[in-house]
Amino acid sequence: MKKHFEVIIVGAGISGTALSYELARYTDVKSIAIFEKHHDIAVLNSSAKGNSQTIHVGDIETNYTLEKAKITKRTAKMVEKYCLQHGYENDIIFSHQKLALGVGDRESEFMLERYEEFSELFPYLHIYDKKKLKEIEPQLVLDENGNDRPENIIAIGAKDQWTTINYGKMAKSFVENAKKESGKDVDIFINTEVVKIEKKDGLNFITTKNGDQFTSDFVVVDAGAHSLLLAHKMGYGLDYSTLPMAGSFYITTKKILNGKVYMVQNPKLPFAALHGDPDILADGFTRFGPTALVLPKLERYQKGTYLDFFKTLRLDKRIFKIFLDLLKDKDIRSYIFRNFLFEVPFINKKLFLKDARKIVPSLQLQDIEYAKGFGGVRPQILNKKEQKLMLGEASIDTGEGIIFNMTPSPGATSCLGNGLRDLKIITNYLGKNFDEEKFESELTEPEYCALKEPIEREKMFANKLRKEMHLHELSYYQVVS
Ligand SMILES: Cc1cc2nc3c(=O)[nH]c(=O)nc-3n(C[C@H](O)[C@H](O)[C@H](O)COP(=O)(O)OP(=O)(O)OC[C@H]3O[C@@H](n4cnc5c(N)ncnc54)[C@H](O)[C@@H]3O)c2cc1C
Repeated sequence: MKKHFEVIIVGAGISGTALSYELARYTDVKSIAIFEKHHDIAVLNSSAKGNSQTIHVGDIETNYTLEKAKITKRTAKMVEKYCLQHGYENDIIFSHQKLALGVGDRESEFMLERYEEFSELFPYLHIYDKKKLKEIEPQLVLDENGNDRPENIIAIGAKDQWTTINYGKMAKSFVENAKKESGKDVDIFINTEVVKIEKKDGLNFITTKNGDQFTSDFVVVDAGAHSLLLAHKMGYGLDYSTLPMAGSFYITTKKILNGKVYMVQNPKLPFAALHGDPDILADGFTRFGPTALVLPKLERYQKGTYLDFFKTLRLDKRIFKIFLDLLKDKDIRSYIFRNFLFEVPFINKKLFLKDARKIVPSLQLQDIEYAKGFGGVRPQILNKKEQKLMLGEASIDTGEGIIFNMTPSPGATSCLGNGLRDLKIITNYLGKNFDEEKFESELTEPEYCALKEPIEREKMFANKLRKEMHLHELSYYQVVS
């Protein structure tokens, strides 16, 4: 058995496998090994059951700022371009309509403002009022008696975009395609847990659970919620802790929505607000979720990992302070409590239904069921130094030929973007070449100018809706006064 590799990747989720593909195709790194503790590629968060299957571009994710959306758009396009280049349409990548929905005047106004701010970055966006929504997504409008819901609703969104991915299948395709690159040696070791990484004389020594030892010039730890545990063992990232936020889903018993529907996000929370997505594993039935529950384990639906949780939490006064600060906020407190109740049998469904009705007002108890076996864990990072819960992903580049990546949402969308960041560090460190031109031409979209006219037309429509909302408000106050 070969024992030395130029690059070893720990973890065969979407992050580790994407990096293996990028290294094999775009660099002259010749030997790459991936170590995966479970029996297959992408069995945890990257499996199609583990996440919401969404390509988070930033257009309907109302928790993304314009700056963040510029970054996610670029990395999301890489995922799309990869799939199209390999002909994976309707096998790995799918197209659904997508909407971000504002409910009530305040949220509707928020949507209009968001359109105005984001339309140049995403010129394909449109504004949908109740009338237009009735045509494309009628369940957002109609109540249980078939009447229009009373409050104003406005959505922004698009049709004909690539929106949905089977990340599990994509991860497998990354390894298959990496292996096809000529002159490259890409090995994957499944059922092989890495328990120790040591640095000696410029080499990384990787020890597996069954006692085998391998060496490499560079190691990237893409072990999801376990990355920080391995970092801590080596003395890195000690100012970080992992807070595992489990996400569960409810699935409908019939087809309800035609596409993805997202809602307005509470900016204090790093987790996406409840959304509805057509599930590609369930004939397009709508999957609502995810919920957010602190779970004292690092892997969902797997035995053990409770001890690993406590080890990565590294509980101390600073962690208590972060928790206390979070709990002091009324919104966060009730969010945490409510999400806990979503897991409690008998009351969970009723409570969840109440929230999901903000999207589909006619939804009934018999229309949804707890999606058993679906969901995963978002390893949210607690920064002890700054004493706060971090909102996104984190990466520790030790500068010594080892990188540790922590990947809460939208880690699957940014797999190729994160891989690109690491690939540059790796090639630089090892003195290897990166064919950037080939990468750019295959995986990135050229800059383009948005056409002004359609955007101006849409902005005029926004102003018309604003006037109508204002008139509605005036007549409401006349009635009540
Ligand atoms: C409920 C939910 C919904 C989400 N929805 C979306 C979405 O719609 N779009 C999106 O972009 N992102 C989404 N995400 C986030 C996304 O799923 C993750 O960011 C992504 O899957 C992380 O991939 P990864 O490869 O880094 O980690 P994982 O998929 O967690 O893979 C890590 C791998 O490392 C292996 N491993 C761990 N320790 C070791 C070890 N010691 N030795 C060997 N192997 C090891 C594990 O077995 C695992 O296979 C969601 C997450 C959740 C939980």
